[in-house]
Amino acid sequence: MTNFKCVSSLQIGLSRIHGQGVFAFNSIKKGAIVFVSSEYSTAPNPIYGSVQRTKDEHLSEPLVFRWVNHSCHPNTEVWFDGNRILLITLREIPSKSEIVCCYDRTEDSIPFPFVCNCGNCSGKIIK
Ligand SMILES: [Zn+2]
Repeated sequence: MTNFKCVSSLQIGLSRIHGQGVFAFNSIKKGAIVFVSSEYSTAPNPIYGSVQRTKDEHLSEPLVFRWVNHSCHPNTEVWFDGNRILLITLREIPSKSEIVCCYDRTEDSIPFPFVCNCGNCSGKIIK
């Protein structure tokens, strides 16, 4: 596991949803900033792990956003503030829980459609 400090203490680890994911080391309160960054590259088209800011702008942030898995019952959402990209909690996240967001809230489409494995839907196709 990779440990790093940011606004909250996060870990990258094996996910039951898909591959690797981002986990809360300690519990995080509702409305908290989980992570904030202005260190990203931009591209006109989506790539694996990118976050869509506008119709023609997709941000690739390698430390955290790249690893956040999708869930139809997200516990975080992506906010933009000037040149910063933020991950904000929608509810309290217990320690050791996976941090997830709903890709449908930011993405018009994703480059690699998949069958959702979040456990909160019946295998919705995310595309
Ligand atoms: Zn789902």
